[in-house]
Amino acid sequence: MVNEELELLVATNNEGKVAELKKLLSDFPVRLRSLREFADASDVAETGKSFRENAALKAHGYALQTNLWALADDSGLEVAALDGAPGIFSARYAGENANDREKINKLLRELNEKQPAERFARFVCAMAIADEKGEIKFVAEGVCDGRISMEPRGNNGFGYDPIFIPEEFNETFGELSNDIKRQISHRARAFKQIIQYLRYFHAL
Ligand code: IMP
Repeated sequence: MVNEELELLVATNNEGKVAELKKLLSDFPVRLRSLREFADASDVAETGKSFRENAALKAHGYALQTNLWALADDSGLEVAALDGAPGIFSARYAGENANDREKINKLLRELNEKQPAERFARFVCAMAIADEKGEIKFVAEGVCDGRISMEPRGNNGFGYDPIFIPEEFNETFGELSNDIKRQISHRARAFKQIIQYLRYFHAL
């Protein structure tokens, strides 16, 4: 157990994720650092075969480069009728430079070719935390079950949000409020486990 303030690198270039985590940890003695402060840090390649492996690779790689505890995540959408695709390739499903609309269109096209068009899907987020020597201390996984809509609806969120209808709702994440998404998303669920880990092992 460690009682002093923990310095924790949030190993992402997405400032939205840093801000979200800051909010969740605002009552705890954690000093969050951002990758933006480490201009020399080189990208860690996501060569893993699963969300967990990629999150762990990034936490390990960035901890070693900064000598800080590091938290990294990897997430994506798995569609049952597409055998789990796009999965870990969610960001580049329609090519490196494709925008969200192109990714959505490709997915809807492929799904509509399936007979019968079974539309179960889930968002998955893995989060890994490594100590300052790069040793992985904990890996959490959050899942949000749902289904794919027939067409995109709503402008909230990002990525596949306009075609994802979470379980127990009729609206897509594109239509639902940010507040609801913050409560039930795969990322929120993984975050909660990370916070429990930090609370328990660091007496936060
Ligand atoms: P990354 O974990 O930031 O690399 O995200 C991987 C990709 O998965 C993103 O580019 C999105 O296309 C997709 N994705 C992950 N989480 C979400 C989400 O909450 N909503 C919509 N798309 C998501």
